[in-house]
Amino acid sequence: MIRNLVEDHVIAAYEAMRPHFPDFCGCVLCRDDALVFALNRVPARYVSSLQGSVVTEFNLEKEQSRAPIEVAMMEGLRKISLAPRCGARGGARQQ
Ligand SMILES: [Zn+2]
Repeated sequence: MIRNLVEDHVIAAYEAMRPHFPDFCGCVLCRDDALVFALNRVPARYVSSLQGSVVTEFNLEKEQSRAPIEVAMMEGLRKISLAPRCGARGGARQQ
């Protein structure tokens, strides 16, 4: 099994930043769009499951590794808030 380690961090960034974007719809479609947007802008880092938890060589906890993920997620949340594919306008705050 092959995993992209960056995916975990993109999801974590989404969960952490979503509350700061009240206009973001947050439905499954918009969530996936935000995740895809960020994932397509951050270089993937694949590991095979045989490597298990041996991920120390790629330390995403370092600020310089996290920053591009957060920037990409911020951009995605902003962009998708403005034009959600699901058709929501301005998120849950407006009718
Ligand atoms: Zn939506």
